Formats: sequence, C-alpha cells, structure tokens
Amino acid sequence: MEIKTFLSDKGEVPSEFVEKVKHIVGEENVSERECDLISYSLDYWLYGIFLSQHGELPSLPCAVISPRTHEEIQGILKYANEYKVNITPFGGGSGVLGGTIPMEGSAILNLQRMNKFISLDEMSLVAEFEAGIIGANLERELNHRGYSMGNIPQSLYCSTLGGWIATRAVGQFSTKYGKIEDMVLGMEVVLPDGNLLNIKPVPRRSTGPSLKDLFLGAEGTLGIVTKAVVSVHPLPEVTVKQSFNLASVEVACDVVRRILRGDAKPAVVRIFDVAESERYFEETENKVTVIFISEGEPDFVALESSVIEKIAEESGGESLGEDRVNIWLEKRFDIGAAPILMQRGGIVDTIEVVSLFKDAARLYDDMISAMKAVEGAISVSGHFSHFYREGACLYITFVGFPKDPMRYYKDTWTAAMEATLRNDGSISHHHGIGYWRIQFMQQELGASGVELLQRIKFALDPNGILNRGKLVEDGR
Ligand SMILES: Cc1cc2nc3c(=O)[nH]c(=O)nc-3n(C[C@H](O)[C@H](O)[C@H](O)COP(=O)(O)OP(=O)(O)OC[C@H]3O[C@@H](n4cnc5c(N)ncnc54)[C@H](O)[C@@H]3O)c2cc1C
Repeated sequence: MEIKTFLSDKGEVPSEFVEKVKHIVGEENVSERECDLISYSLDYWLYGIFLSQHGELPSLPCAVISPRTHEEIQGILKYANEYKVNITPFGGGSGVLGGTIPMEGSAILNLQRMNKFISLDEMSLVAEFEAGIIGANLERELNHRGYSMGNIPQSLYCSTLGGWIATRAVGQFSTKYGKIEDMVLGMEVVLPDGNLLNIKPVPRRSTGPSLKDLFLGAEGTLGIVTKAVVSVHPLPEVTVKQSFNLASVEVACDVVRRILRGDAKPAVVRIFDVAESERYFEETENKVTVIFISEGEPDFVALESSVIEKIAEESGGESLGEDRVNIWLEKRFDIGAAPILMQRGGIVDTIEVVSLFKDAARLYDDMISAMKAVEGAISVSGHFSHFYREGACLYITFVGFPKDPMRYYKDTWTAAMEATLRNDGSISHHHGIGYWRIQFMQQELGASGVELLQRIKFALDPNGILNRGKLVEDGR
C-alpha cells in the first residue's frame, strides 16, 4: 500500500542493523509490519491526526523495536551509532507536539515492555518503577498499597512515566503535589553512546548542576530514561470540594494568588473563563467558575477550605458548593469532540503557556483576541490550572473551520505564541516542544539559549542518533 508522508520520507534503515537488533531483543520484538509502522508513526499531535484522517501521515518508521531491559537498549544504541540510525523513543504516544514522529528513516524504540513496579519504601515515601509503565497502572500499584504519586494528567491512561519525565509533564493535582520535576528523585538513563547513568534518589544534593534536570524535558534527545524513583503520598484521609462564581478572569486570578500567598495548597485549582464555564457547567450568568479540591489530613483540610471560602467571598465570589467540582471530576479524562470535529474538516488544538500573576489576565485577553482574529476561527476559550505562588498556566482550546487548514493552524499558533511572548509569558508550560513548537524556540530562548542546547546535544550525541528533529534544530 502506498502511504503519503508530508514531513519526511520513510527513508531506509540498513538491514544489518535490523538483523543485529533482532539478535538483541528477539525477532518477535522487532516489527516491520505495515500496521505497526503506521500505528507508531505519530503521537497525539492533533494537526498530524487531522492530516492522517485525510490520507497523509507525517512520516513512517522503518522498524518498531520493543526492548525489555536497559542492557538491550545499550546494545541497540551501540549499533545505532555504528549504522547511523535515528532512534525515536516512544512511551504512550500521547505527546501533543509530534515528539515521537520518526523523521527520515528512524526506528521507533517502544518502551512499553519496560513497565514493572520495582519497589516502595514506605519510610522514605519513594517508589521505583520502570519508565514504560502507563500512568494508570503506576497509580494502581500505589493505590492498593495506600499511596499515590499525585501525578494525574488527563492522559493518565495513555501516557508513561518516561514520557512524563521526557516532556516535563504535570497532573491535575499539581498545585499540592507538584510537577514531575518535583516528584522525580532519581533515575536510570541510557546515554546516546550506550553508557548507563544512574542518578541516585536523594531529596537534594549540592554536587554541581543537577544532572537529573538534563533529562527532565529532553524529549528523548539526550538519553533514554529506563527507570525512575519518585516521591509518593499516603492516600488522603478527607477531601473537600468547593466552587465559586466570580466576575472575571482577573478577579479569579487575584483570588487564587491571595489564597496561595497565605500558604494554602489545594490539590486542584482551576479557573474556567466564561466560554468554558458555559460549556462545562451550563453557566448562564456570564461568570467565571473557580473550583478547588483540598485533600489530606482533616485538620489541615478544614483550615485550608475555610481560608479559600473567606478569600473568595471577600472578592464577591458566590459559593456554588460541590456540584461543579463533581461535574469536572466526571469529565476530566474526556477528550471532547476533537476527533469528530476533525473528521468533518475542523481544526482543533490546545496551547498551554505560563506567566507570572502580574501578567496573567493581560496575557489571557491578548492571546484570546489574537487567536480569534485569525480567519476561520470558530471558538477560542481558556482555563487556568497548575498554580504557583508566583503565577499560573493558561490553557487555551481553539477550533476553526478554515478554507486553508495549514494556513489557519500556523497563523493561530503564531498569534498565540507572539501574544505570549509580548506579555512576558513562556511558550510552553507542560506539553513541551516536540516537532511543531521548534519554530518558536529562538524567540523563547534567544540565540544563545538555542545554541547552548545544540551544544549539549552535540556533546552527548555526536552522531545525532536520538530523536532527530525534535526540541531544537540540529544546528550541525
Ligand atoms: C488527551 C490528552 C491529555 C493530556 N493531558 C496532559 C496533562 O494533563 N498534563 C501533561 O503534562 N500532558 C498532557 N498531555 C500530553 C502528554 O500526555 C504528555 O506529554 C505525556 O507526558 C507524554 O507521555 P507519553 O508516555 O505518551 O510520551 P510519548 O508521547 O510517547 O513521548 C513524548 C516524548 O518523550 C520521549 N520519550 C518517551 N518516553 C521516553 C523515555 N522513556 N526516555 C526518553 N524519552 C522518552 C519521546 O521520544 C517524545 O519525544 C495530554 C495528552 C493527551 C492526548
């Protein structure tokens, strides 16, 4: 069957490489079957999915390799260097920026066979897992022992621990439990030259720049994460749910800012703009909705929820009780109508950015109006989630039915990224860069920042065998 690819040709991987890899992992764990090549050719980058629904794929891999151990990966990378084969790591394939697209004759390294729970240390509150474990299975292992990692992304059922680390992911309960970089204490990484790096799990150390941080967000370009030790929490004793109507995004951001300034740490905080409040909760009073979930030890939770109520009401917030929180909890893994809209010619995507509180409301207004002004736009809406004492993540969803899909997609992204940068925000909070967002990295990091990343890449991976064409332009 002839499959059209629009980013790069399938290319070729030397047959000797494939044969040698089969000796390492076993013939049954190297697939060249067309259905596997197609299945592993793309992640959840929505524009790529749009095109695939209309008969084109971004690219195709030459083989899908599924190792079981880090020793096998070491062997594979040794041959990848010898035969100059690009290796693209694949966790759950839920990344949304094309990070797993196999450029120019790559082999996919599917990590999902490396999926074991290894240990739980109840005294130190840490647990160790292989990196290919799917998030929901990781949580199940912990939950039945009385613990949670507290990282619950919307993609819990289709993303892996290694993918979370590689993209600097965050979960819905991040305001209390932290983001992935707060949770990972140690890890095992196979470096591009095949050497094994073990970063030992301690709460902190002062031994030079943090090597762990080199791989948190490297998107598979600097090493393959094979194991990680993460912090865990006892399951909460009590949960309190609260929601409020507030006059505007600006007022709501200020309420959350004051709550967090006072040391409260609700697990979930979300501000839905008017459009999302209408869509989610059938809000009819033209108001913004804010929801909170506090959980943990009963005395702390009681105190925290009373602080939240006091500050929200001082700012004119009308308490709406638990209902809206329950609606959100029911819908929180639902991916909505995106696949159906795209089948009908619609373009749908989401963009998450981050700023300080002082810029948050201005960034929101500017970004929404810039994206709405693009020809073909039907709907642009947003919510804030993932809060810090200093600022918050703004998450925008857009839908268009344009005459020229690629033009609309590119113009909308450009409008969003430029609005973010002129309001002093950062272009990604947790989805990462992948393939699609590389075009904005110069503006985000500056020429020296990009060059520094390129130099690090070249130093670690001189043959450029790991996830070519992602994160930053090659620069060679
Ligand atoms: C419906 C939906 C909801 C989402 N919700 C959230 C959310 O709430 N929070 C959030 O942060 N993200 C979210 N995402 C984005 C995505 O789930 C995350 O980026 C996730 O971390 C990707 O994990 P994965 O295992 O699927 O990685 P993949 O998509 O397989 O890979 C992502 C990148 O990491 C690399 N990689 C994967 N595994 C490894 C490894 N072991 N070692 C080195 N590199 C590796 C890949 O090469 C690629 O560059 C969502 C996506 C979808 C589709």
